[in-house]
Amino acid sequence: MTRFGTLIGTADKGAALFHCAACADDSVAGIFLASPTLPGAVIITGFLGDTFNWTVRDRDAFDALCLIVAQDDADPILLRRYHWLFAPFFCVPCEVNYCTRHWSPEPIHDAGGYDHTLGTCPRGHRQKVHGWSDDRE
Ligand SMILES: [Zn+2]
Ligand SMILES: [Zn+2]
Repeated sequence: MTRFGTLIGTADKGAALFHCAACADDSVAGIFLASPTLPGAVIITGFLGDTFNWTVRDRDAFDALCLIVAQDDADPILLRRYHWLFAPFFCVPCEVNYCTRHWSPEPIHDAGGYDHTLGTCPRGHRQKVHGWSDDRE
């Protein structure tokens, strides 16, 4: 199973679909969308049962993200170089993507309420799979 995404739709829609490496039927791990027609908007959907919208204020960084997803074989490692939240379904040690179910997500709360979500991949790696945009791994 490859870590690389599949280009879906058209290049100007800039959506990459990533498959789960543990699902026999090629289930979707997540979809990353960055389109030149929506400047600054990054959308991650199909993961953790929700759609996450992020804003990239740095125009050069956003253009680079659009280029990554405008071609087949979008690399989640490159997306994570901008922010880990841009490919939260990617397991760094395994170098593949996993779907929500295979990440076994576990919400972590602190005194102020929800803080982040930890996932455990099928091979036992624990990694943050959701958090706030100022969170670091
Ligand atoms: Zn799966
Ligand atoms: Zn792993």
